[in-house]
Parts: sequence; C-alpha cells; structure tokens
Amino acid sequence: MLNSLLIKKDFPLFSQPPHSDLVYLDNAATTHKPQIVISAISDYYLQHNANAGRSVHSLASKSAEIFEQSRKTIASFFGAKDQELILTRNTTEAINGVALGWARHQLETDDVILSTSLEHHSNLVVWQQVCAEKNAKLKLVNLTSDGQINQVDLQQQLKQHTPKLLAITHLSNVTGSYQDLQALVKIVKKVSPKTKILIDGAQSAGRIKINFDQLEIDFFAFSGHKMYGPMGVGGLLVKEKILMENEMRPWLFGGGMIDQVNSQSSTFQLDPRQRFVAGTADVASAVGLAVACDYLTAIGMDEVLKHEQDLAKYTLEKLNAVEDLKICGSTKANESNEHQIGRLGPVSFAHHKYQAHDVAQILDHHHIAVRSGHHCCMPLHSHCCWPATVRISFGVYSCHEDIDKLVEVVTHLDRYLS
Ligand code: PMP
Repeated sequence: MLNSLLIKKDFPLFSQPPHSDLVYLDNAATTHKPQIVISAISDYYLQHNANAGRSVHSLASKSAEIFEQSRKTIASFFGAKDQELILTRNTTEAINGVALGWARHQLETDDVILSTSLEHHSNLVVWQQVCAEKNAKLKLVNLTSDGQINQVDLQQQLKQHTPKLLAITHLSNVTGSYQDLQALVKIVKKVSPKTKILIDGAQSAGRIKINFDQLEIDFFAFSGHKMYGPMGVGGLLVKEKILMENEMRPWLFGGGMIDQVNSQSSTFQLDPRQRFVAGTADVASAVGLAVACDYLTAIGMDEVLKHEQDLAKYTLEKLNAVEDLKICGSTKANESNEHQIGRLGPVSFAHHKYQAHDVAQILDHHHIAVRSGHHCCMPLHSHCCWPATVRISFGVYSCHEDIDKLVEVVTHLDRYLS
C-alpha cells in the first residue's frame, strides 16, 4: 500500500483552508497537482519563457531544448519513441486527431468502425461524425447486463465486419472494468488482423503501466490532467510506421509544421515532431506533464496500480454492505495475477431512494467530492437502465479513511434527505 498520508503532503491544495479536510474522490474527472508540477510550470515562465522552435536567440534555443526533453520524458513514460508522441490538449483532441488525420483519409464508403456501448462520448461522437461524412458505418459491441464489454460479441463483430478501426476504452470511467490489452490484441490479430486499434487511455494513463512499443496497438490517447499533470496537455501515441508511411496526416495547419509554402500550395515537414505541431507549442504544460510522469515513476507504477486495486476492493466491500445501493458493473474486485488485472476504480452506484445529484450534494456538505450524472456515457447508462449515478474515483492520495467517511454519510442518507 502507498503511504497516502505522506503523498498527500506533496499536493498543496490539501494543506490550504478550506480544503484541509477535503476528501477528494473525483479523480476520474481530474487529479490534483503536486507542488513539483506547479513549481516546474512557474519556473519555466520565470526563467525560460520563449517561443520554442522559432527564434535563434539563446532563450528560444533553451526553450526548444526543454520542450524536446519534456517530450522525450513523456514518450518514455509510455514506453514509446519520442517521434511517436503527438502532444494534444487532452484525450478528446487526441481521438479527434485520429478521426481527422487518419480516418478521414483511410475510410471508404461502407467501411466499418467498431466501438462499444461502454465508451465515453469522446470516443463515440467523433466516430458518428466521421462515419456520416465518409458514408462509413459505426457498429457498437454489445455489453453484458452489468455493463462489461461482451467479449463474444466483440469477436463476432470483428469477424463479421473486419472493421478498419476498433476504438475501445482501456479502463471504463464508470464501471472500472478493464480491458487486458495483450489479450485484446491477440483476439484482433487472430480474427481481423488488418483492423487498426485505438485505445482510449484517459483513465488508465497514470494508473496502469503502458508499454506502447511492446503492444501491437496503433493509437493510444491520454490526458495529462488525469495523471497529476496540468490541464490543457495530453497526447496521442501513434506507431512510427503509420506516421512515416504517411497513413496519418496533419490535421492542423499553420506555422512551424511546414516545409515550403507558396501562394497556392505547401509541403510539410517530414519529421513527426514538427509535422504535427502547428502554431506555438505549449512548452510550460509539456514541462509540467513530464514532471508528473517522473513523479509517478518515482512512486512506482506497480505500486500505483496495487493502491488502486486495494481501494477499489475496499470500496466495493463497504458499499456492498450498504442498503438501497446498486453498484454499476462488477461488484467484486478480482485478485490480480499476471494477465488479469480485474476491476479497478471508479466505483459508481445508483441509490434506490435518492437521486445521484442529491447524494453528491449531501456528500459535498461533508467535504467529500464525488461526481454525479451520466459521466459522459449516456449509451452505457441507457443500456443498463441506470439513472444518473454517483461516481467515486481514487488517486494516489486516497485512503481507506476517505472511503470510511463516504460510507458513513451514504449509510445515513435518510437523516439528511428524507
Ligand atoms: N475517455 C474517458 C474514458 C474519460 O474518462 C474521459 C474524461 N472523463 C475522456 C475520454 C475525455 O477526457 P478529456 O476530457 O480530458 O479529453
């Protein structure tokens, strides 16, 4: 188990009134930032601020060097090559990048994109849009009654449609159900080997160690702000082959990414490190995210994952014993072994008597922050006939006492709401 009390001291928000007794269980929405991330961003502006990759003066050269070093640190955290990382604002922009830079050029009429009914809207709405534009078809893998991806249907649909792309979440932001990527790749390679694989890693990045170059997936999208980095920076990892063979093209155009420009046409840089950076880069956010990656590496990603598993298990045990609750998805956190990580957080529930927003408000009165609603997963909620739900999600600073405080309030809701 991580020493979450000690870790909490790294996060200045928790030591400032009125937040000193805050129980923050909304980490799937965004995590807090450790002091070293905040300091790295402010140090960059205090000591190095200049437009990277434009001017030749020393300050600008140093800024470019810092940017490149930060990119390398981030890519290496995910087991990817530096040139395979395209920095974006967040997961949503990364997935849109695959739609605009890859799917738009690769899809033909009646081609299929396969996704699932478990997805966050960021990994669904964009496919609806691009399929409509290209006269392609969007098919969704069915779910089991408790909201897990139906693995039999996944195989059947891969076989039946041989989709151009499978766009699938790694870790659900509602049910905490987890897709074992090695097992997934094995299935796809066997049943439909030409299908490209896009993983929505918004919830797994910073919780599960990713080895992008060792996995036969093609795209991996993530957000920095959900892994202790700043808001406004995330990334898309793309296999080098896809980038070098021009299968993926720039989708943003302007200064920095061009090679030659004349009045009617332009050519673009070949190196993906420049080709996909249109306009001024957000150097400070890249610096902050790189420091967040180093922070997680120093804690140890194996420890971070064990901590998450422990909290999910503890929360499920406690909530299973509370009356009038329906837990979304699996009610058990599986023990881990080499290939099966099982269920992690978040843990979401519906209350039989009280509305999710009312429960969240009562929790807020007790300084406990959770999220309520459909969590940008309307198809999942309608498939499972769940109303709006309450979501509890963990960070490295979360601990059993946080869960105990939440369970105490949830157990006595009648006191506050009846
Ligand atoms: N996918 C999943 C599974 C998510 O949980 C989220 C954020 N809740 C996103 C995508 C979108 O992330 P962002 O808003 O940072 O782009």
